[in-house]
Amino acid sequence: MRWQGRKGSSNVEDRRGGGGRRMGGTAGKAGLGIGGVIIIVIVMLLGGDPSALLEGGAISSVQTENQVTTTQTNEQPNDEMGQFASVVLQDTEDVWNKIFKEELNTDYPEPKLVLFSGVTSTACGRGESATGPFYCPADQDIYIDLTFFEELQNRFGAGGDFAAAYVIAHEVGHHIQKQLGASDYVNSQRGKVSETQQNELSVRLELQADFYAGVWAHYADKWKNVVEEGDIDEALNAANAIGDDRLQKQAQGYTVPESFTHGTSAQRKKWFLKGYQTGDIRQGDTFKTNDL
Ligand SMILES: [Zn+2]
Repeated sequence: MRWQGRKGSSNVEDRRGGGGRRMGGTAGKAGLGIGGVIIIVIVMLLGGDPSALLEGGAISSVQTENQVTTTQTNEQPNDEMGQFASVVLQDTEDVWNKIFKEELNTDYPEPKLVLFSGVTSTACGRGESATGPFYCPADQDIYIDLTFFEELQNRFGAGGDFAAAYVIAHEVGHHIQKQLGASDYVNSQRGKVSETQQNELSVRLELQADFYAGVWAHYADKWKNVVEEGDIDEALNAANAIGDDRLQKQAQGYTVPESFTHGTSAQRKKWFLKGYQTGDIRQGDTFKTNDL
């Protein structure tokens, strides 16, 4: 995927300690912790120049690795993986701003992407990296522990930058569904329909998010030429790897279709491709079709 040298989004909140990690998985350079911020404020209150402290490196030792913090900085992530996520988010903003304006005659409310490590607080409760990337409809933020992408590569054999971009675009897809009413509809059915029917609604919701990820890929490529040889295969490989049937087979050796909540590998690939090939949001009504 071509992403380097492009502007990142201003909607990234970096809650990771230690300034994040590099793509290879080695720890990045230490960032500015709460302690560092407090020291700078004190120095400024005393009329001093905090840059002397920063340059001298006196602050960096305050920060501990993997510290859970809710400090918000407006700085762009300084590690490669964080910058990558920021550029992909910007790409999704460009695509959905235009589609909302031109096809839906409304403004696109841009979601925030929260980068965290380990645990973080969300309006949907405690967010944990073990859950994988997720979207919280209550605060309309996307939460990702970027080490998930290493897991995608190591555990599911679905590496590559475009696979990671597909995952981010899928979570943005859930944000689109929140705006267009699909996720509220599925939630409203909870308790009114059987568990099997609820799971089927969940599958339809997930496949539509895959479709929207495909729509993103369609326009990002058309406008910015981001797709390189092999990229679509990377996304399809990721969609294939995290399908319910694959995950269940890996976990228990057999599949239980009624318990699927994300769709099969074939379905996930199909809907991503449909979005990618058409770029037409009207083709993505996974709730009406009998042919998932
Ligand atoms: Zn999803």
